[in-house]
Amino acid sequence: MRIDLHTHSSVSDGSDSPAELVHKAAETGIDVLAITDHDTTAGWAGAAAALPGGVRLVRGAELSCVTRDGRGGHIPMHLLAYLFDPQHPAVRAEQVRQRDERRERLHRMATLMARDDYPINPDEFLAALPDQLPAGRPHLARALVEHGVVTSVDEAFGSILHTDGPYYLQRRDLPVFEAIDMVRAARGVSVFAHPLARRRGRVVETSVIRELADAGLAGVEIDHPDHQAEDRALLRDVASERGLLALGSSDYHGTNKVTELGAETTHPDVFEELIARDTAMSVLG
Ligand code: AMP
Ligand code: FE
Ligand code: FE
Ligand code: ZN
Repeated sequence: MRIDLHTHSSVSDGSDSPAELVHKAAETGIDVLAITDHDTTAGWAGAAAALPGGVRLVRGAELSCVTRDGRGGHIPMHLLAYLFDPQHPAVRAEQVRQRDERRERLHRMATLMARDDYPINPDEFLAALPDQLPAGRPHLARALVEHGVVTSVDEAFGSILHTDGPYYLQRRDLPVFEAIDMVRAARGVSVFAHPLARRRGRVVETSVIRELADAGLAGVEIDHPDHQAEDRALLRDVASERGLLALGSSDYHGTNKVTELGAETTHPDVFEELIARDTAMSVLG
């Protein structure tokens, strides 16, 4: 049994469409696949409709949150949520809040650029943003390429959109305690994604994982391409101490990252425990 519970499609920042993703799972010999796009469930229907025989589909999402870091500060974190009800009022309310907040943030960033005489019209840019999918700097980067401010999305991220630059504004992500409550209310299972992925930036102290476990976190991703061996061992200790599900996943992004589908996997016993929880959605296939 090969079980990969963390993958991205082109609905967020992966390169395979949801249908391509489930077909790739079949070709690669994956028995259970979760689709976990960033902050959206928009890929669920396409993945379900194209599901080949022999592959089981877990519908999920990877939520952008903010957490205490355990040192007196706050840092961004990702929370995987599985099998929750996407129509639950708390989930829908958060989607509306996030959509409005992200659009407003990008509009403010574009306004700062327009004030400095960059050839971008903030209102036109806002009107052209996709309605269904979370908007982010990639959309602004593409607009800047179209208006000839930069020659590529990469150049935009390295210059005008840089986090240290004068136009960067922070997103206001969901506090993780609220996210855990929301997932629980919507009868889903929440898992801390790549908690010790140090090469992405600062990470939490393990005391924070214990706090989150007390608040209802169900699991923690341990085998992940961005985790070093020592950190996996550390996480295994925390997981067994707190009874957290210990997951392993590839965090596949298609050609947008180097990791292959199924590069890291979850043990079948852990998967069985996960789906034995009371969840709003069932595993398909
Ligand atoms: P935001 O959430 O709006 O601050 O934008 C962050 C998003 O931009 C993340 O999802 C990244 O995947 C994406 N991103 C970061 N750097 C680049 C890059 N050089 N090219 C394309 N996308 C990027
Ligand atoms: Fe991603
Ligand atoms: Fe992530
Ligand atoms: Zn991911």
